[in-house]
Amino acid sequence: MTDTQQTAEYIARDERWGAHNYHPLPVVISEAEGAWVTDVDGRRYLDFLSGYSALNFGHRNRRLVDAAHQQLDRLTLTSRAFHNDQFGLFCEELAALTGTEMVLTMNTGAEAVESAIKVARKWAYEVKGVETDRAEIIVATNNFHGRTTTIVSFSDDPAAHDNYGPFTPGFVTVPYGDAEAVRAAIGPNTAAVLMEPIQGEAGVIVPPAGFWSDVRRACDENNVLLIADEIQSGLARTGTLFALDHEGVRADLYTLGKALGGGIVPISAVVGRSDVLGVLKPGQHGSTFGGYPVACAVGRAVVDLLSTGEFQQRAKELGEHLHAGLRALEGKGISAVRGRGLWAGVDIDPRAKTGREVSMLLRDRGVLCKETHERTLRMAPPLVIEREEIDQALAALAEALGE
Ligand SMILES: *Cc1c(COP(=O)(O)O)cnc(C)c1O
Repeated sequence: MTDTQQTAEYIARDERWGAHNYHPLPVVISEAEGAWVTDVDGRRYLDFLSGYSALNFGHRNRRLVDAAHQQLDRLTLTSRAFHNDQFGLFCEELAALTGTEMVLTMNTGAEAVESAIKVARKWAYEVKGVETDRAEIIVATNNFHGRTTTIVSFSDDPAAHDNYGPFTPGFVTVPYGDAEAVRAAIGPNTAAVLMEPIQGEAGVIVPPAGFWSDVRRACDENNVLLIADEIQSGLARTGTLFALDHEGVRADLYTLGKALGGGIVPISAVVGRSDVLGVLKPGQHGSTFGGYPVACAVGRAVVDLLSTGEFQQRAKELGEHLHAGLRALEGKGISAVRGRGLWAGVDIDPRAKTGREVSMLLRDRGVLCKETHERTLRMAPPLVIEREEIDQALAALAEALGE
């Protein structure tokens, strides 16, 4: 596929004026609906990335867009200096959906993680009795929790981490999926274990069965908080509300973001135990836009969509279909397939092509997805996608691999 003059001009403008902190595929999108996007030249593509799972309910989901429009016509922002008529309802409804006691609203995923870290430390000092400034949080290798200075302090990805020091201390890294290593890393100063139930950016890595119940037990025995970062894995992507639900494990705190704003507004949250989030008193944490009325109105509509279980069911059934199709390509240019629900990490056979090359060939065939690291494609279509559309993408992938 050759890029048109128009596409080339848009891309050149991005590169001239935008900081180069991303390496996008050369496609310039101007419209979208459901699982489909359209570029400036009128070409249509199936979206197999979903804004890193921010678009779980599809592009411009009618009910979410309506909720946003209605709220825009009434009230957009109060700040938390005053009450508004959306915030409390959102918190109540999100707590009911997630079976949790309290909600702390922020804007981005990284802010939710930052907030969970701050709350866990404060809880460690004020409730657990850890000596001042000694609190430790156990994290995993290959983690991804966002891009703030504190969060990249415990990233082992050189691209995310290097040259951003001096770094925030207080984090201990253990191999992902190794419950014994988690247990061994717990000491008297341990405040929390913070991990992704399934590692998204690392390539959709699913830990071994039993890992989470072992970690839960180690936390319980040592009065350590379990914080599940469900920003990418949560909200129906894997076929259940939380990815941890597959393991029958509850976290003390969950961080949520991405799909919580329906691909319309940035909103994130920490949800969980009220005796933990309750350590925050007025003035001790906040955000001007955190839980603003437009985000809360859209978030309430998202909670409503999730409350029927319909999207969870779609992710489960269609996910089985997607995974069966991908497994059929193992040995035909694909060396491994991982994941759960409508979420797959697809390792491209190193003798065949790079992830970028396959992404480009898929683009030429009307499917958009993106490599994560050199050799892995991440597939995460909106949960509104139809079975036939998945088949279309699988056929495009088979063709791209055979090219
Ligand atoms: C995307 C992501 C984040 C960061 O969210 P932002 O909204 O980009 O700040 C944190 N944790 C996980 C697991 C993520 O996938």
